[in-house]
Amino acid sequence: MIPARGFAAYDARAPLAPYSFERRDPGPNDVQIQILFCGVCHSDLHAARGEWGEVPRPLVPGHEIVGRVTAVGSHVTRFREGDMAGVGCMVDSCQRCPSCAQGLEQYCETGFVGTYMGVEVETGRPTNGGYSDKIVVKEHFVLRIPDNLDPAGAAPLLCAGITTYSPLRHWRVGPGQRVGIVGLGGLGHMGVKLARAMGAEVVVFTTSPDKVADAKRLGAHQAVISRDPAAMAAEAGRFDFILNTVAAPHDLDPFLLALKRDGTMTLVGVPSSPHPSPGIANLIFRRRSLAGSLIGGIAETQEMLDFCGEHGLTADIEMIPMAAIDTAYDRMIRGDVKYRFVIDLATL
Ligand code: NAP
Ligand code: ZN
Repeated sequence: MIPARGFAAYDARAPLAPYSFERRDPGPNDVQIQILFCGVCHSDLHAARGEWGEVPRPLVPGHEIVGRVTAVGSHVTRFREGDMAGVGCMVDSCQRCPSCAQGLEQYCETGFVGTYMGVEVETGRPTNGGYSDKIVVKEHFVLRIPDNLDPAGAAPLLCAGITTYSPLRHWRVGPGQRVGIVGLGGLGHMGVKLARAMGAEVVVFTTSPDKVADAKRLGAHQAVISRDPAAMAAEAGRFDFILNTVAAPHDLDPFLLALKRDGTMTLVGVPSSPHPSPGIANLIFRRRSLAGSLIGGIAETQEMLDFCGEHGLTADIEMIPMAAIDTAYDRMIRGDVKYRFVIDLATL
């Protein structure tokens, strides 16, 4: 085993604190990575602070990992020592079920192994995420980071990027469509950049009037204050697709009403308690759909990274030292993130 260091949530209320643990020795199919940067996803906060119920503790969160390859197993073909590499939300899956066979490891029928909150197949021990100095991951789950992208800005692509790219692709967002992005946080701001790069007309729905100018700078054609009933009413029936990234329970009806006939709103936020049920008539009378989507498969994650490489897209980040993680969480709860915190692991 290899000694590793990180920051862990020991319980739901205490601040994260230093933690020493072990990574497995790299096997023939493994890649060992020295972690340089790790994005801070709202999922880290939900998990660390017990908002999703019990989790294995001490919990080392972090699933937006970018770092330098320091060792590879003898069967590894796509990576060499010194390469820049990424790891997202998954580190393993069964690799045999129909979902895995179709490259949809996130929907693995026996459940994918999370980068944290999972159980490592090789050792039977809990997995630990990217708030740490190193990680050992099966080659299949390691991503190539395009050379032209800033590694710190690329880290959030591993979750925020793919979680927005996958539904935008699945629901075939492109030119001629009017697309709404609800919530301008980590996921939302990547949703804006990606939907714009795909050629759609992009509208941000935000609760924060001070984010309107940023929404436009990030690529939105328009921003609507979602707490303004008149502004919402003016958008009724105008959207082909809406991606809702909000991390808290809220009224879905104003957004469903904004859909055209046959429009879809896809939820990616995972609040700690459910949204109130939407009005069913809002679905029925316009044949609208309410859907959900989970991250994206490994091949699609590579496709997204390459797309970002071609279009020069990275996250807008605020770099933080490891010790500032709890302050970052508190700001995230207030919606005060512009637009992704990224931990500089040199400060660990
Ligand atoms: P984030 O950076 O905190 O952004 C969430 C945004 O939602 C906020 O910036 C805010 O935007 C808006 N918001 C927050 N509270 C709100 C409220 N009470 N009412 C209305 N709007 C509110 O979070 P994130 O990292 O983007 O993650 C968003 C959610 O997606 C989390 O629940 C996370 O767990 C989940 N997630 C899901 C997947 C998946 O695979 N499905 C993957 C990753 C994350 P405005 O200020 O613009 O209103
Ligand atoms: Zn995430």
